[in-house]
Amino acid sequence: DPACAEPLAVLGRDVTVPLVTGGEVTYAALDYAASAPALQRVWDDVAAYAPYYGSVHRGAGYLSQLSTDLFEQSRVTVAGFLDCRPGDQVVFTRSTTDSLNLLAAVLPADCQVFVFETEHHASLLPWTNAQVTYLNAPRTPAEAVATLERALADREPYGPALVCVTGASNVTGELWPVKELAAAAHAHGARIVLDAAQLAPHHPVSVRDLDVDWVAFSGHKLYAPFGSGVLAGRADWLQEGEPYLAGGGASRKVSRREDGGVDVEWHTTAARHEAGSPNVIGVYSIASACRALTEAGFDNLVAREQQLVTRVREGLAEVPAVRVLSLFGEDAPRVGVISFVVDGWNSSHFAAALSAEYGIGVRDGLFCAHPLVRTLLGSEPQAQGECGAPEAAPGERSLNAIRVSFGAGTPDEHVERFVRAVK
Ligand code: PMP
Repeated sequence: DPACAEPLAVLGRDVTVPLVTGGEVTYAALDYAASAPALQRVWDDVAAYAPYYGSVHRGAGYLSQLSTDLFEQSRVTVAGFLDCRPGDQVVFTRSTTDSLNLLAAVLPADCQVFVFETEHHASLLPWTNAQVTYLNAPRTPAEAVATLERALADREPYGPALVCVTGASNVTGELWPVKELAAAAHAHGARIVLDAAQLAPHHPVSVRDLDVDWVAFSGHKLYAPFGSGVLAGRADWLQEGEPYLAGGGASRKVSRREDGGVDVEWHTTAARHEAGSPNVIGVYSIASACRALTEAGFDNLVAREQQLVTRVREGLAEVPAVRVLSLFGEDAPRVGVISFVVDGWNSSHFAAALSAEYGIGVRDGLFCAHPLVRTLLGSEPQAQGECGAPEAAPGERSLNAIRVSFGAGTPDEHVERFVRAVK
């Protein structure tokens, strides 16, 4: 399809990096799953807005009003991008991690949380106030639904419950059966939050159609930099919970009590959780990215990305030493995120060689999903550092993996160079 033949323009296309073998080469950014390059369009929108920058909700001047308008319009844009229902709230956060921690902070009393052990740590770990049931890794999408149904049906007592699930794995790129999981959750009186950090940049996400209660994603993976994220969905728990950040902007009225204390009336809008001066540039850049992706058309973006996925899969399949990691089977549908190990290679050394000898930026490690990577590698990863890469002696089986990830800005040449380098 000629309509999907061209990648979207992103920053950094002409950046050159030195090679250990001498000379330099244009950088091939194949680590979109960590952070995607910013769309040129987002950068241009932000540059056009920058001279008009002003404080949001905190000024009477024209530029402050303009910034407030753009900030609030961005909420509407994001709600449209996610196909939210009337009454849903869009809360701006710092990231997916922040969004899920926010939701964890407003869970009703005695809420039970159900989460697959295969989740990214951002989805696995925030539920410290709740009783958490960790579900074993399923080996098919149908098994995921059945596992969840069983766990929800067995729960005692039958109180409020939340399921947290990823839309696309940050390790395997595989798509999860979100709609079916949402139906299962609702059939058993539970709510569901979708971690769309890896899904939203690659696929349209419709809150209405998937029938999820909340969705979380990060701007920096959606081609918008500047440290902002989104939690969108049902207003009730958000309105009833304590403010995630207490301070100015979240409070409607603050007064001294006769006994010397302070009474606070908190907002019941999204502002309840957004105290402090907000990151208007970050929020504006998310809205700009949402518009750019919508205008480019997800049909085109998905079609082009799937061509690249096929090219990488076919290329890796030609190298007998390569094992692609997969939970649902090698042919399962996936976004442009592929992890693999190479027999006889330490993954860290392999990734370092891709960078030093070919100018290709991938990631190696455990990808902040230790239990999943352990299941996929069939070994116990020895965590080092934040999401780090354990060392294997040269020639030993790798204890971590290599991840290549790409998307709307990836030219064919980057993928071709990657396949050539691996071979
Ligand atoms: N969930 C998934 C599936 C992710 O891939 C990531 C980022 N690697 C996160 C959550 C966390 O996103 P952030 O670091 O932007 O908070």
